[in-house]
Amino acid sequence: MTSNFKQRLKGANLTQRLKGANLKQRLKGANPKQRLKGANLKQRLKGANPKQRLKGTNLKQRLKGANPKLFKTMNPLLEKAAEVLKTSKHTTAFTGAGISVESGIPPFRGPEGLWSKYDPKILDINYFFENPQDAWDHIKLLFYDFFGESKPNPAHLALAKLEEVGIIKSVITQNIDNLHQEAGSKTVWEYHGNYRKLICPLCSTKFDSQDFNLKELPKCRHDGSILKPDFVFFGEGIPEHAGSSSIHEASIADVFLIIGTTGEIMPASMIPGLAKKNGAKIIEINTETSKYTDDITDIFLLGKAGEIMTEIFEIIVK
Ligand SMILES: [Zn+2]
Repeated sequence: MTSNFKQRLKGANLTQRLKGANLKQRLKGANPKQRLKGANLKQRLKGANPKQRLKGTNLKQRLKGANPKLFKTMNPLLEKAAEVLKTSKHTTAFTGAGISVESGIPPFRGPEGLWSKYDPKILDINYFFENPQDAWDHIKLLFYDFFGESKPNPAHLALAKLEEVGIIKSVITQNIDNLHQEAGSKTVWEYHGNYRKLICPLCSTKFDSQDFNLKELPKCRHDGSILKPDFVFFGEGIPEHAGSSSIHEASIADVFLIIGTTGEIMPASMIPGLAKKNGAKIIEINTETSKYTDDITDIFLLGKAGEIMTEIFEIIVK
């Protein structure tokens, strides 16, 4: 991670970030006047400040300097992946916790994961209804206080931009952090739900969590029932629409782009295999090899999602 990138993530301008600088504006470049004067799409996609871009996440340049050997191995693969994406008819991205790590969200599993510090029972559906106050106190701390601070990283932004130019058709995500939508992705299948919504177990009404004072247990405004975060707890099924849409994607996609998931969480982990069976090419971006790598992956790109996606994006739009 370059200091520039880190700075950007952590927010040199925290106030602006907290105030929620308009994402569209950010994507399209900081100077809307300039944009209106007719910067073309390519230019706009590449961002308003190319100098900054060069100083920042240009993986190729950095690799060339830092590790010429790795660069030699990686570069043809990046070019190949970009070519496959560019010529695809229907690319579906399939993302997991790894894509959000660069946004400061720790994964659930692993030595640094949330489950190394917290008891997973707080996300058990029965525990939630039996001990709502205790469960809620933890859930608020872990998700609402913490996730609220995170912002999309270059990997989320690159996926959104590739959807804008028609290359990515949809994103299936196992994450509940809402970062794909914040980045501007339009078609997002949330396999495990989204923390931003609260649902009433009695009348099924969904509420925006931001409309509640989360220091207290949120209650349904129609019937007073305790609201449950609208993501999948242990002991719950996959949301029907997201589940069936994901299977549909796996049946029509000619390219599946796996990012930041090692395929350990069932039944989500089966979707890429289904796509492969239906003839999709599999591109995988992970910081380590996964269950997929030797089994179904056609192009394996080792590295951080933000850096690799930025590089692929630049090859595609150049
Ligand atoms: Zn209700």
